[in-house]
Parts: sequence; C-alpha cells; structure tokens
Amino acid sequence: MDEQRQLMIEDLGSVLEGELLVDPLSTALYASDASLYHVPPLAVAHPRTRDDVVAIVNYAAEVDLGVFPRGAGSGVAGGCLGPGIVVDFSRYLHRILSVDASTVTVEPGVVLDELNRYLRPLGRYFPPDPSNAPVTTIGGMLAVDAAGSRSVRVGSTRDHVERLELVIGDGSVIEAGSEKLLSRGTGGPANLTDPYQRLCDNLERILRENEELIGEWQPALPRNCSGYHLRGVLADDRLELARMLVGSEGTLGLFTRATLHTSPLPEHRGIVLLLFGTLEEATRCVQAISTLQPSACDLMDRRVLSLGRESDLRFSSMIPAGSEAALIVEQVGMSERETRERIARVISAARATAQSTRVAFEAHDFDGVEFLWSLPRRIVPMLTRLKGATRPLPFVEDIAVPPEQLHEFLTAAQRVFQAHEVTASLYAHAAAGQLHFRPFLPAPADDSGQRLEELATSLYEEVFRLGGTVSGEHGDGLSRTPFLNKQYGPLCRVFQFVKDLFDPQARLNPGKIVPAAGESTPLEFRASQFSRPPTDGSTNPTLKPTQDPSDPDLVSLGGSWTAEEFSEAATDCNGCAACRTISPQQRMCPFFRIDHSEHASPRAKANAIRSVFGPLGTDTLVSEELRQLASLCFNCKQCQLECPGHVNVPQMMVEAKAAQATVDGMTRGDRTAAGVHDLVALGGLMPRATNWLLGQPPARWLIEKLLGIHRDRRLPALARRSFLRSLPRRWSFRPRPGARPKPVVYFVDHFANYHDPELATALVRILEHNDVPVYVPRDQYPSGMALITSGDLDSARRLAEWNLRELGELAREGHRIVCSEPSAVVCLQQEYPRLVDHPDAAAVAEQVVEAGTFLAELHEHGRLSLDFEELDLDAGYHTPCHLKALGTESSLRELLGLIPGLRVSTIEAGCSGMAGAWGIARDNFATSIEIGRPLISRMQQGDFGIGTTECSGCRLQMQQDSSTPTLHPLKLMALAYGLIPEIGQKLPDPASPPRRRSHRELVIS
Ligand SMILES: Cc1cc2nc3c(=O)[nH]c(=O)nc-3n(C[C@H](O)[C@H](O)[C@H](O)COP(=O)(O)OP(=O)(O)OC[C@H]3O[C@@H](n4cnc5c(N)ncnc54)[C@H](O)[C@@H]3O)c2cc1C
Ligand code: SF4
Ligand code: SF4
Repeated sequence: MDEQRQLMIEDLGSVLEGELLVDPLSTALYASDASLYHVPPLAVAHPRTRDDVVAIVNYAAEVDLGVFPRGAGSGVAGGCLGPGIVVDFSRYLHRILSVDASTVTVEPGVVLDELNRYLRPLGRYFPPDPSNAPVTTIGGMLAVDAAGSRSVRVGSTRDHVERLELVIGDGSVIEAGSEKLLSRGTGGPANLTDPYQRLCDNLERILRENEELIGEWQPALPRNCSGYHLRGVLADDRLELARMLVGSEGTLGLFTRATLHTSPLPEHRGIVLLLFGTLEEATRCVQAISTLQPSACDLMDRRVLSLGRESDLRFSSMIPAGSEAALIVEQVGMSERETRERIARVISAARATAQSTRVAFEAHDFDGVEFLWSLPRRIVPMLTRLKGATRPLPFVEDIAVPPEQLHEFLTAAQRVFQAHEVTASLYAHAAAGQLHFRPFLPAPADDSGQRLEELATSLYEEVFRLGGTVSGEHGDGLSRTPFLNKQYGPLCRVFQFVKDLFDPQARLNPGKIVPAAGESTPLEFRASQFSRPPTDGSTNPTLKPTQDPSDPDLVSLGGSWTAEEFSEAATDCNGCAACRTISPQQRMCPFFRIDHSEHASPRAKANAIRSVFGPLGTDTLVSEELRQLASLCFNCKQCQLECPGHVNVPQMMVEAKAAQATVDGMTRGDRTAAGVHDLVALGGLMPRATNWLLGQPPARWLIEKLLGIHRDRRLPALARRSFLRSLPRRWSFRPRPGARPKPVVYFVDHFANYHDPELATALVRILEHNDVPVYVPRDQYPSGMALITSGDLDSARRLAEWNLRELGELAREGHRIVCSEPSAVVCLQQEYPRLVDHPDAAAVAEQVVEAGTFLAELHEHGRLSLDFEELDLDAGYHTPCHLKALGTESSLRELLGLIPGLRVSTIEAGCSGMAGAWGIARDNFATSIEIGRPLISRMQQGDFGIGTTECSGCRLQMQQDSSTPTLHPLKLMALAYGLIPEIGQKLPDPASPPRRRSHRELVIS
C-alpha cells in the first residue's frame, strides 16, 4: 500500500464509524458507473453517520482531495466518478427515519422503490418516477433532479422536497428549506454572525444581481437539470434554497438527510399503446395529445420497438414487426369511467392527426398499466445487449427541448446523424420534450473522444438554436459539463459564484457543472482499457501494464473460454446497476439482498474481471480480495437471467474460483460443498450407521470439525440402497437403435440416487404410466454442479467426460435425456459445453430436458394421462433458481394443478440460499439461512400441508426449521396416479397441527 493510502487509513479510517477502503480491487469497483467513463478513486468511504460524512469532507480539505458522493452508481454521465474519495451513501445510510401525514424523512441511500413500498400501505407515494426506480437512491435523485415518464403531471424530484440536510465544503452541516429572506438582498441587516444566514444572504445577493442574466440564459423548460437551477429561486420574500440545491450533483453539498413531500396514491390510471406508420406521424400526434393533459406520453422509435418485441412474447404479438413508432399515453382520473373517457379522447385525437394510428393495447387496471410500462423499462437497459461492430452509447442521451419544438428538433437531429454517418435509437418523454438518443458507435477507445465530441457538438448546436438543454434529467456529470459554457455563456460565471459560496475550495465533486480548475486531462473510457499502452507512471501506483487478453498464455482458465471471451463477457456489463435490485418481483442477487454492498452486486463481479484484464493485471485474479468477492457468488444464475445484457457473471466467478483453487486451493466452504459427493458415496456403504450418526449432536459436532458440515444443518438421510445399485433390470436395457417409441434416458444425479430413490422411481413410473419407455444408464455419475460452483473444474471435467461417454451416443441417436433435478439440466445444458471440448457436449445439451417440461410437452400433445386420484391438500410451491435459469417457469407447478383437490400456492420468497450443497458447509451456513430466511419463515407459518419444489437443495432449506414435509412435485404426481401409495405416509395428518422441528431431528427421512 502506498504512503498516501496508508496515511488515509490511519488518519481517516480510524475515526470513521463506517469503513474506508483503499485496496486496488475496491477502488476499481468504484471507477465506473453506467456511463462510458473510467476514473479510479484513491479511496472509497462507506459512512454510517452524518459525522462520518463531516469527517470525510474535513479530511479531504486537509489533504487536498476531491470528495465524490455516490448512490447506486446508475448515473449515465459519470456524475459520481472522480479520483479522490468516493462516498458511497447506499451502503449504510439507507434508513427511513420518520413519516407523517404528508412527508417522509429519509437518509440519502434509500432506494426509491423501497420508499414507495414503505409508503404504499399508508396510501401515499413519492411521485417522481425514473425508470430505474428499483435501484436509484434518493440521494442520486436529489442530485440530478431525477424524473420520469410522468413528469408532465407529477413534476421532478425538485417539486417534492421540503428540507435537505447537507454537509457543505467547509465541513459544516446546514439544513436548507424554503427560507424567509431577512436582508431582502441589500447585503444587511441579516444576522451575519450566523453562517447559514450569511450564506443565504450572499446567495440572495448573487441571484438579485444576476436576475436578468438568469432570465435570459436559463431556459424555462419543463425539463432541465443542467447547471444550477437559479430560475425562480427568489420568490416573493423567500429563498427556495432546497429547490436550488436539487440538481446540484453533489457539487454544493453532500446530502445526508431529506424531508420529502408524499402524495396520495393515484386512484385510477388508464393506458394505451398507439402504433404509427412513421416517426413523423407519431411526433405530430404528441402535440395533439398534449392538449389533453396526459400524465405521460412517451415516444419509441422502430429500434426500441423491435427490442420490445424480443423482450416478451406478449409484446411481440401486439407490436407488428414493421412498426415504425409508438406512443404510450397514460391518463389518470377519479374513476375508471373517467380514465376510459380520457383515453378514448386520446385515441380520437391521434386518429384525427395521423391516419396510420393503430391501438395495440389498452388497459385500465393496475396490472395492465404496469405491464405496459414494463415495455420501456425493459428496453432502455436492453439496448446495451445489442452486440456487433457498433453499440448504442449514452453520451447525448439526455437532451430536452421545448415540447412545441419537438418535431423540428427531431428533423434537425436526423440531419446531424446523417452528416456524421450514424444511426441512433430514440426513446422520449415526448410531452415534456425529453429525448433519450443513443447513437450506434463502436465501443469507445482512446481515440474515440474526438468523434463523440464532434457529434455531441453538432447535435447540441441544434439544441441551443431551439432553446433546449443538454440535460433534462440525468445531470451534467463528466459528459456534459464541458458544454455548459456554450449553453449558458455568461451565466457560467454566476454558477461559479454559487459554487464558491458553498464550496470555496472546490472539493465537492470537482469537475461537474463547474469545470475543474487547470488543464483538463482527456477522460478514459471504460471499454478502452484493453487497448491502452502500459500505464506506468499512472497516478494509481498499483496499476500494472495492461495485458492483451488475446494472449493465450495470459491466464489459464478452467473452462473452455478463451481469455478474450472471458474479458469480453466482462465488458458486456454497461454498469446500469439493475443488478442492485432487491425488488420482490426479481430474484437477483441473493448476496446483494442481504448485504446491500456494491461488492456483493453482480456488477462488481463483472467490473472486477474487467479490471483484471485491464488496469489491475491478471495476478489480481488470484488475490485475496478477488477470492472474497468470488465467495459472494454461488452460481444461482439469476443475474445472468435478469440482467438486461445477460452478462455471464456466474461463469466469470466460476473461472475466478477455479483460478484461485489452482493457486491456493479452494476455500473451506467450497471444499466441503465440492466433497459432498464423495462423502455421501462413502456413507452409502453403511447407510444405517451413517444416518444414526448424522442424527447425534455430538457426532455432528465432530463432523463439523472434521468435514466442515454445519452441525445444525438438517441433512437428508441416506437411502438403504442407492437407486442405481437397486435398478430393476427392465429399466437398464440399452435401447436398440431405431427402437419405437424412442425411450427417454433418465439422468438421475446425486440426490435422487443416494437420498431419494423413491423420487427416481416416481419419475420412471410416471413416464411408463404415460407409455414413455425409459432407459436408465447404470454407469452414470452425478452431474458435478457442486464441483463447478466450487471452482473444482478438474474434478467436474472428469465427471462431465464420463457422463458424456455414457450419454453422447444416446443423444446423437435422438433420445431425450430427462432430469428430475433442475441443476442437472443446467449443468448438462449450459456448463458441460463450456467445461469440456467434447464432440458430444452439444448433442447432450440439445437433448437434455427437465422432467416437468417433458411431461408438459406430453400434456400439450394430449398424451398425458389425467387419471389422477384426489389429493385433498394445500401445497406451497417454491420455484428453484436453476429452474428459472432454464428460462421456463415451472411446468410441474402447472401440472400439479391438474390433480383434483390439490391446492397449490406459489411462495414468492426469492432464492432458498442453498445452491445445492453450498448451504451445508459450516462457513456458509449462516449466510445460507439469512438468504433463505423468507422461505423458511413462510414454511413456518404452517398454512401449507406440504411444501413442494423440484430442487433437492431448496427442499432441505424448506424443511430446515419446519416440520412441514417437502416433496418433489413428481412424488405428488406419482401418488395421485396411485403409482406409489407409500408416499401418502409422508403427508401430514390433518388432525395434528404443524409444529417447529425439535433440535433432535437433524436428519430428514
Ligand atoms: C437504465 C437506466 C435508466 C434510467 N432512467 C432514468 C429516468 O427515467 N429518469 C432519470 O432521471 N434518470 C434515469 N437514469 C439516470 C440515473 O440513474 C438517475 O439519474 C439516478 O437518479 C441516479 O441515482 P443513483 O443513486 O444511481 O446516483 P449515482 O449515479 O450514484 O449519482 C448520481 C449523482 O448524484 C450524486 N449523489 C449521489 N448521492 C448523493 C448525495 N448523498 N449527496 C449529494 N450528491 C449525491 C453523485 O455525485 C452524482 O452526481 C437512468 C439510468 C439508467 C442506467
Ligand atoms: S451485470 Fe447486467 S444488470 Fe448488472 S450492471 Fe452489468 S449490465 Fe447492468
Ligand atoms: S449467479 Fe447468483 S449469486 Fe452469483 S452474482 Fe449472479 S445472482 Fe449473485
């Protein structure tokens, strides 16, 4: 560690209640946000209190460093990036402090959706609606005056602020609201001994002296968050200081607390999706519709619409392939009748204006309205999924023009794009004149700056000509501050006066809004790090020469990825921060949900790998810091599924673990999880004795010490004989080539084989009951998913090669390979092709199918027997992550619905926290329980007679602290078919009430 960082730890780290991080990996994680830029900070602070923030600002002043506040880091202009101390408010300062009838007081790290979830039961909400509400923090929203589609009706963040507490440049704390003016701009006789009064008085003076300049140069636009908001701050005898501070991007003060106005939840909403033959027709309609005062009127172009079609089957069926443009128009009203009338008027106005108008969707209920809004919410981040020579880049993505100039500006913008030979996607909050363009350009490299600047300059000339602004709601940040001189001319001097009042030493977010003093160095782009020359002599002493990822000797990877593919996968992450969600509607990321730290987020894991191939050097892959980061991933694959760019973070973490295992061995937890197969196979030689031992607390204590299996984890009993050892001969005859009907092959995997042969039998009997012949290869091995998740890729590869030998020929002959364990499907379908360079890996991946999906196919073709007996039972169903990862919802859950009397409710409680065998390890147990707590608690409520899920690991967690039995859905089907009546003995006795398990029941039989 260099001297400067060492001193920081000693002088600042020691006084903070929160944390100060200076290691190269942590600082690399905070070097980027959702923008194109890369600026490594010197240190990252996680304050826990306002006093921590004061200490950071004072320390920065002492040692001449900049302070860069940060929320979720979802900004697209690089607003939170800087080379000094980044202050992450989202880590600890995220409490809701108090609420009354019409206001709520919060810390800045509170996430907007969290706040609204808290307010909803009170019938209130915080109205500004940026599309990334599941992740954006209130601090970030205040700093950029965030707004969304409904800004024409509800306004922006500024319109809902009562008071702000902030730490300003000299380290003092002020509370700003709407202040009564004492001096009335004369420079006296205010109470000049009170620093706050002095500040207000000076500000009043600056505003009065420059009133004309402000009126002339700051456009009165519905959306404008560029520069400081000086217009209208002096009103009557009041100084609207809180309003002025909103949008100041952390350059005037660091917000530590905010009192916000809440509003009653809107009573009724109606929404319509209108399609048009040309973009021009759609923009003309905006004018007509705006007179009807919609609560939102958003415009989408052809590219955006075609992404929408890809995002959901329902959208692809309602939006024809050739649609050129669309408007989403929302109206609110006191009753559904009113919203219907208002939407009908919108449709008539559109039809009267544009002949090609087509109504694609209309809704007047909550679900329908939310469904349609999910279209733009999904698309904007999806833009980044587009691969190829060019990508849609955010750098002129926040232009706003007077709404009446929309059409003229769009025509001018098209001319500019043509002149620069680029195309661009467009999504616009059209009624407010807010346009989100993303030009398609090559990923920025070191020499891209000039091209981006030239395009921006040409486009902004048109913006200024029509009285618009470079930023309507995302802020100036790094990408727009250089253009403020052109936009505001002499008003920039006034911005400087204001800055000097609050932050005379220019320590607070320097370089944003008011350009930093001195020579400006060209900014680095995050995607350009691979092509940069060695960074010797950099300000960051830990940087190593940049590596060329195409060098095959650079890093030895466990899977069949090349280093280049590995690093490219990392650069696919655009930093959008969508993976910081803790929304109950989503699954990712179990670790981030319990921790709220950037390090736990999938984004951090992708950024870490990007830095490994960039500034940090490949040695970092096996560093302790990266080992800790990789331990915050158990390969559940939910981030890959839900990330708009489908960034393969889990694979990156598997590779990192594998590299670490090669150098330093596996972590204790991973070793335990990886070794489970062997331990169980050993225990299987003496199942009775093993089961007895597993149920004895003293023996469990010893097992924990010796084998690392947590003493409190309930473990599944071993079967007397494994399924494959007791396999009836008729299921083990290899099918003749050309046999008709073609038998399916059953891949049993570890759990059904050693612990639950009844499940394996259930599947085979169900298949036979439906006239599907089955072949069970006797010499198959477990899939090896636990080994892959732990990074033991060599052992996993051996299993994979063996299994491919067993299954390959069958797959090539066209036999379906059915699995009762979802992880086995994921393993054979997604992991094997990356793990081994084997000719049969692709054929097996093609043929493998989850049992529920296979049975659902039979049902679809009318070939599933429906002769179920009644099961009078309430079942709670949990969807395993690996089933979701297959891209299908649970078919078995649907099929259970065919059983008479069986009432199935889906439990929405997120990931179970087991990740196969991961959750049994002593080192992982507490985290596993914390992640799985919502599911465990749900099972403890006792309103289900039975739990049911396909995943064996999830089943263990569901039974961890509950006496309610949990069975695979196939067993319930087999019981209802009357194929295995003994399963009925596992069902609860309706006469005895559910109970918590006793500590003696350590084994689940
Ligand atoms: C997919 C996507 C969709 C988006 N949609 C919208 C949208 O619909 N509307 C919209 O307005 N924006 C949108 N944005 C832009 C951006 O996310 C928002 O502006 C957001 O409010 C930023 O919040 P954050 O918590 O991520 O802040 P960050 O990105 O961390 O920071 C943003 C700015 O706030 C400052 N800041 C953060 N915390 C504090 C604090 N406590 N005190 C002082 N300054 C602070 C930072 O220094 C920085 O200047 C979108 C971004 C993405 C990636
Ligand atoms: S991993 Fe995906 S969701 Fe997360 S920041 Fe990157 S692109 Fe966004
Ligand atoms: S795979 Fe799961 S645990 Fe790993 S980063 Fe993604 S969501 Fe988190």
